Amino acid sequence: MRILIANDDGIYSPGLAALAEVASRFGEVRIVAPDVEQSSMGHAITHSRPLAYRRTPQLRKFDAHRVNGTPADCVALGVFLWKDVDVVLSGINLGPNIGNGIWHSGTLAAAKQAALLGLRGIALSTPTGQSEPDFAALAPWVERVLELLLPEASLRLVNVNFPPNPKGMCWTRVSVRQYDGRVATMADPQGREVYWLTVRPIEETERGTDRWALQRDHVSITPLELDLTDHDALARVSERVRLDEPVLAEPPRATADVPVSEAAAEEEEAESEASAG
Ligand code: MN
Repeated sequence: MRILIANDDGIYSPGLAALAEVASRFGEVRIVAPDVEQSSMGHAITHSRPLAYRRTPQLRKFDAHRVNGTPADCVALGVFLWKDVDVVLSGINLGPNIGNGIWHSGTLAAAKQAALLGLRGIALSTPTGQSEPDFAALAPWVERVLELLLPEASLRLVNVNFPPNPKGMCWTRVSVRQYDGRVATMADPQGREVYWLTVRPIEETERGTDRWALQRDHVSITPLELDLTDHDALARVSERVRLDEPVLAEPPRATADVPVSEAAAEEEEAESEASAG
């Protein structure tokens, strides 16, 4: 099994080394990770400048490469350079990725990028306190999770969060009822107001959610999907408000903002030349 490992904390994160160590018991590991921290970058990709990668021998046991890009870039590039990747693991993030945090998470984005490319993606995160997480203590739990998830080929995208001292593991859903983001106001050295986007702790949680599991010292395992369509709302509104039906006979047109590949453009050119001649 070929396992590509990425993260959003950067290639020198201890969480990435800990994950690579455990993952290497399950298959061939290659690391492609950002050269600097990219936390909360979400699913950004770099499109206005080129990407490059450098071999990173500091992660001695592993074939590791750092990229001047985002977590999603790393997966796109890693999958392009290393053929036949089976699964992408992202993490272990220093900080939880639960509830609405998954919208901002670069860790999740790396796993999502794998799913977009038709591969499997698993994101792994753990909270940090005053000190760094005890990755040696977590290692047996990481191994249990990989033992459980790697054979489950039907799970295409999974979000895993480890509490500091796990007592068990459970399947969960995303807790989205409360948003934990907030804006804190403070003064800069000149006394001018500046703002810091941060989070507030959420105490009450719904049973069965990722946050609920972590608060109860259980590893939270949430299967996710890429389809953001609200299928219930779609069914309701399309029944109530009839809109137009595209004519089926017409060939589908390419969406304007999707770049036409060079090959397709050349083909078109050749066709129009042929018809002109
Ligand atoms: Mn991070």
